[in-house]
Amino acid sequence: ALRVTGLSKSYGSHTVLRDITIDVRAGETLCLIGPSGSGKSTLLKCLNLLETPDSGEIWLGETCLTAARADVDAARARIGMVFQHFNLFPHLSVERNVTLALTSVKGMGREQARQSALRRLAEVGLAAFADRRPAQLSGGQQQRVAIARALAMEPEVMLFDEATSALDPELVKDVLAVMRDLASAGMTMAVVTHEMGFAREAADRVAFMCDGRLAEIDTPDRIFERADHARLRQFLSQVL
Ligand code: ATP
Ligand code: MG
Repeated sequence: ALRVTGLSKSYGSHTVLRDITIDVRAGETLCLIGPSGSGKSTLLKCLNLLETPDSGEIWLGETCLTAARADVDAARARIGMVFQHFNLFPHLSVERNVTLALTSVKGMGREQARQSALRRLAEVGLAAFADRRPAQLSGGQQQRVAIARALAMEPEVMLFDEATSALDPELVKDVLAVMRDLASAGMTMAVVTHEMGFAREAADRVAFMCDGRLAEIDTPDRIFERADHARLRQFLSQVL
């Protein structure tokens, strides 16, 4: 569904992504792992056009997102993104946080948007919290609202960048459970994570990034049980 070819990105003289070619297949959960600074977040930001690659192409279905005439807003609406910090609007209710983009970007009517938001909130286990403010929710609940907000736009692909890293340990599992449900429901997902348990169990494939390169991409079984790449083995010995 999402295809990247020959993607490179530098900040000044610092090359962060080197000739990355990778695809996220329809319905697949692809986990991205790798040391800090290896370029995982930069890759996701390029996919969502928050950063402009220096070279290479990104295709979403039949649309080339990196083409000079690409409609960036239309492309972004097809890609949902969930970050470490969920950036909910503190002065708006949970329900309004979820419906805001539906009414303002998609031009959906208020009542239809509300129904859609309530459905999405139910999917992440938060139907009863629609009228609360974000500050009245735990961090894990807020992150699930952020996921519901992204899902409400009915994206073709979901990108997660360390969605659980800012959470207290006891809140992590509810968010991972929502992500697992999404994966089993056939959502196409690219997930940057330090949760190796999640990568092992929920990923269809795991990509190991190192020094801006895609060093390995394989099934979780081969990545975790039979890694022969020296840097990957070293990385796993540190995180497992
Ligand atoms: P982490 O696991 O710590 O989140 P990462 O794999 O996500 O790391 P990136 O955030 O993609 O790594 O960063 C890759 C490299 O690019 C790092 O060396 C970082 O310092 C550099 N970098 C990222 N964003 C910028 C920027 N806006 N300007 C300059 N350098 C940047
Ligand atoms: Mg990062």
